[in-house]
Amino acid sequence: MKRVLEIDKEEFSEILEKTFSEIVHFFNSLDEISTQPNVKLEHQKLSYEGWGSKKVLEYFQQAVKPIISGSSGPKYWGFVTGGATPAALIGDFLATIYDQNTQRINQGGDISALLEVETVKMLLDFFSLPDSFEGGFVTGATMSNFTCLATARQWAGHQINKNYALEGVSTDDFVILSAEPHSSVVKCLSMLGIGSNNIVSVRKKDETREAVDVEDLEQKLELYKAKQIIISTSGGTVNTVDFDDMKSISRLKEKYNFWWHIDAAFGGFANILDEYKHLLDGWENADSIAVDCHKWMNVPYENAVYFIRKEHSVLQMQVFQNSNAAYLGNPEDNFSYGNFTPENSRRFRALPTWFTLKAYGKEGYQNIVRNNIQNAQKFSVFVENHPALQLLSETRLNCVCFSLKENPEKSSKLLDIINENEKIFMTPTKLNNKAGIRAAFVNWRTSDKDLDVAFTEIQFALDKMDI
Ligand SMILES: *Cc1c(COP(=O)(O)O)cnc(C)c1O
Repeated sequence: MKRVLEIDKEEFSEILEKTFSEIVHFFNSLDEISTQPNVKLEHQKLSYEGWGSKKVLEYFQQAVKPIISGSSGPKYWGFVTGGATPAALIGDFLATIYDQNTQRINQGGDISALLEVETVKMLLDFFSLPDSFEGGFVTGATMSNFTCLATARQWAGHQINKNYALEGVSTDDFVILSAEPHSSVVKCLSMLGIGSNNIVSVRKKDETREAVDVEDLEQKLELYKAKQIIISTSGGTVNTVDFDDMKSISRLKEKYNFWWHIDAAFGGFANILDEYKHLLDGWENADSIAVDCHKWMNVPYENAVYFIRKEHSVLQMQVFQNSNAAYLGNPEDNFSYGNFTPENSRRFRALPTWFTLKAYGKEGYQNIVRNNIQNAQKFSVFVENHPALQLLSETRLNCVCFSLKENPEKSSKLLDIINENEKIFMTPTKLNNKAGIRAAFVNWRTSDKDLDVAFTEIQFALDKMDI
């Protein structure tokens, strides 16, 4: 009897061709694929002998493909969901095909690590950040925040001659100040043993803003000056895309000693447009910055980058070093990403970002980001002009928060009807205790035609509710 692996070898190109035409079809018809298909999957016992890839592919096409969501398409506006540019997809395929373990630059290293260093340099240039930052790729902004905050934690200990990486954390030593931390920052504090209760909430500017009140921030810096302080700021909150005032925080940094982290998961892209870069003025003075590539860079999941100042690289290495594995050598004189990131074995994760940046350049991304901001503005105008709808906040960049003018609490019903129709997908939100709906524009494909579909769908849902 032939072993399955042998069968697969013979049929490999045939299977690849089938898969390839499948991919092309999906890519070209993404526009029409349901944004919220009805999903179900029957449990099947593991096959002892295995089916061979051909049969699995056939089964996949019949049972799974029809209920794959068009979430990477132009009308999926839930959460902050990007798509994938053609070049990013190619880079991602190749990362899989070449299957490198991206760690070391020298001594048994390979081109994948060098290309990662090169991609980080391209990104610093892209974001107009100085080369006093170093960076690397992780799976998402959550892990990027984690990498940055873990280094911040080590810094806090270092200020008082403690090495938390060796001794464990004593949380009484420090506080985290933040006005509107993303849920992932809170999660990171839990993962880091800092404890999310250790966040001291700083006041927001006013009830219409999610950005920090800098005066209150300064008072808290005074209040907690006996402790080590980490400030976690937002370079774009998820709801209203509000930005903490980076210029004022830069000035505070001249006066006080603290670690400054910026979660700029998608808001960082504001910096590539002349008309919006003032929102990030001063961010180059931060100690660490988290940016997602699988959002506005439109690179497939899982892709994000951290930027941490070079001067902190020893602290970062103290946290992440894997040097107790003797065969890896001394982490200081033999650079390996494995000593600077949570993961040890790592895929060729920089490749899709490298591909897409090279393919479209900064200008290509300026067009994507500008287009999405215009999408949001047009959507806002529709809401403002509609007698039954209201904006919940000013639309600052690419997210629109809105609700029913009367009975905002019925917005969730409205959203259910819209989403169940499978053409447009948005997510619920809450702002100043008002329930609402949020549309986030991050996909490179979204156009006026998609907005028109949305306007029709919203009207359809309102009619159905007799509003
Ligand atoms: C999406 C997001 C995160 C979390 O990123 P993941 O890529 O989902 O891990 C963190 N912060 C902000 C502001 C985000 O938008």
